[in-house]
Formats: sequence, structure tokens, C-alpha cells
Amino acid sequence: MPRPITATLHLSAFENNLQVVRRFAPSAKIWSVVKANAYGHGIKHVWRSLAKTDGFALLDLAEAILLRESGWQGPILLLEGFFKPQDLALLDRYRLTTSVHSDWQLAAIAEAKLSAPLDIYLKVNSGMNRLGFAPDRLHSLWLQAREMGNIASLTLMSHFATADGPQGVAEQMTTIEGAAAGIPLPRCLANSAATLWHPQTHGNWVRPGIVLYGASPSGQWRDIADSGLRPAMTLSSEIIGIQALKSGDRVGYGWRYSANTAQRIGVVACGYADGYPRHAPSGTPVWVDGVLTRTVGTVSMDMLAVDLTPCPRADIGTEVELWGRHLPVDDVAAAAGTLGYELLTALAARVPVTVE
Ligand code: PLP
Repeated sequence: MPRPITATLHLSAFENNLQVVRRFAPSAKIWSVVKANAYGHGIKHVWRSLAKTDGFALLDLAEAILLRESGWQGPILLLEGFFKPQDLALLDRYRLTTSVHSDWQLAAIAEAKLSAPLDIYLKVNSGMNRLGFAPDRLHSLWLQAREMGNIASLTLMSHFATADGPQGVAEQMTTIEGAAAGIPLPRCLANSAATLWHPQTHGNWVRPGIVLYGASPSGQWRDIADSGLRPAMTLSSEIIGIQALKSGDRVGYGWRYSANTAQRIGVVACGYADGYPRHAPSGTPVWVDGVLTRTVGTVSMDMLAVDLTPCPRADIGTEVELWGRHLPVDDVAAAAGTLGYELLTALAARVPVTVE
């Protein structure tokens, strides 16, 4: 028998979450963001459940090709554009839409021999200071690009830094409005947080990622608990060992946990080599035998330990949910000082995936 750990994908959750996004942004088209192998869920498992989307957005050419060769005929957007001029032959062959954030990319497009002109997303840096042209260049870039024979269409793209927080999108929206005044370009601005919480950003296309997987862009499950979004992945395992601790007994590497009373603990077949965060401290929530309990001690490479006090019937073989349907990944991530994004995308290749 294989090690008892599984990532179960709930395919109906993807369909549901896409519908939720449509309700939030009814007049926009949706780029479903499936970068990082669909946020760790596996593009090949996921994309058909999201096939009512208007397009898929991702990063790697290899993932774009996989998606195309798996049968997706609709639009595919390369969020960070292409990385070398020679990539343009593949963009042409696989009919990929690309963002353009640097002059060298425009120059490469101008010189490329293409079978058909490309759809281009002009990426403007409205304050994130990651990728993008300076906003005051938008007008001249628009004039330049619309004269280029190799460009079929142009869309204005930008990305928000604080759409999930109290600062919101106001400052960047002012920058975008200023740069785009009088320039009749379609817009694609909103990530998940802006899609949910800042309708003024919706424009022509929204670009949600994390909400499609049923986790919160803010890292707080309570922020999306009433939205109708559902977790799309459950990471589950089993108890493979039990220890009866006496008061004063210590647990795991570094003996970072010590029992202050007699206590039963369970050892679970899941560790940091499966993608569970090693820095999750004692007290991180975990669901065992139908109740919420907590981890104890340092997470090992292949195992972690849980307090069985609230679940006295738990035994070898009892099911453990690390995150998923009963326990939001956001809650586990918050205890570990990170975000659901990091946990989902870190799911290890050795964890078998099942779909239901
Ligand atoms: N658009 C761009 C350019 C991104 O880099 C990302 C992800 O970081 C997204 C959209 C989707 O973001 P989120 O998962 O927060 O919706």
C-alpha cells in the first residue's frame, strides 16, 4: 500500500468558484489564473472544470503548451510575457496572447515572422514596481503599437499591490486613470481581491487566481466565508502511530513541545516534504476524526504529531485532514505565518492526487 496521504481535488468546487466570480464581476470576461501548475492543483486535472472561463492566464510557456495540447482551444494569456525573442515562434504556433512590459519585447514582436498578428496586453506599472512600463509612456506606446503590423489588438493591463488590504486600490486606480485618459483601450486590472472587493476595477477582463481554488486573497478565511467560495483541495492523511505521553515528556526534533499532563498524541503521515509548512508551530489547527485539534512539536520531513485529547476514539488509521473541506487552508497558513497561496503551490509532487 502507498503511504496514506492524498490531495483530493473537488472538481465541483472549481465550477462553483468560477460561478461565484461571475456573480462578483458580471460584466467582465474572466481570465482564470492557472499559473504554478494551477496553484499546485495540477493544470491537467483542473482546466476542464474551469472550461466555462473566457480564457486561462499563466506564466510558463511549457504550461501554456500543455494546456493547448490538452485540448483548450480558447484564449491563453502569458502574464509575464515571453522571456526571449525566440519564444515568439511558440506564441505564434500555439496562438498565445502575451503581456508586454519592456521595450525589447515590442522590438522583438516588430521583427518577428508570424503567421498571424498577436493580441497584446500592455502592462503598466501603476505602483507595484514589479513589471511594467512607466504610466506616462502609455500614450506613446499605444501610438507605436497600433501602427505595428504584428499586433492584432491591445489591452491595458496593470496589477494591484494592496487590493486585499486597507489601502485598497485607490492610489493605483488614480495612476491608471491618469495614464489612460483619452486612450480607448480595453482594461484588465483585477486580481481576486479586486474582483471581490473593488468593482470599479473590473473593466473588460478580470484575472482571479486564488479564489478559484477556494482560498482567501487576504489570507483570512473569514473575509470570504460568506462569498459562496468552496475549498477545491483537501489534503488528508492518517494516524500511523500513537504515543501516550506522561507529564514532562517532549516531542519531536528540538523537543520544542513538552506535555504538562498525561496526553495521547497521534503521529500523522504528512511532513514538510509533502508541502506541509515546517515552520507551523505547535497549536496549528488540524482536523482529526471529525474534530479540530492542534499539532504538537516540530514538523518533520515525513511526519507531524497531533494532540488527540479532543478525539479519544482516534487510533491508527484514523483520517486526518491537514486542510480542505473542514479546515480552510487559510487557517493553517495563518498559524504558520504565511498565506494559502504558499501552502497550495508548495504541495509536493510525491503527494498522490485524486479527483472527485
Ligand atoms: N494577475 C497577475 C499578473 C498575477 O501575478 C496574479 C497572481 O499573483 C494574478 C493575476 C492572480 O492573483 P490572485 O491569485 O491574487 O487572484
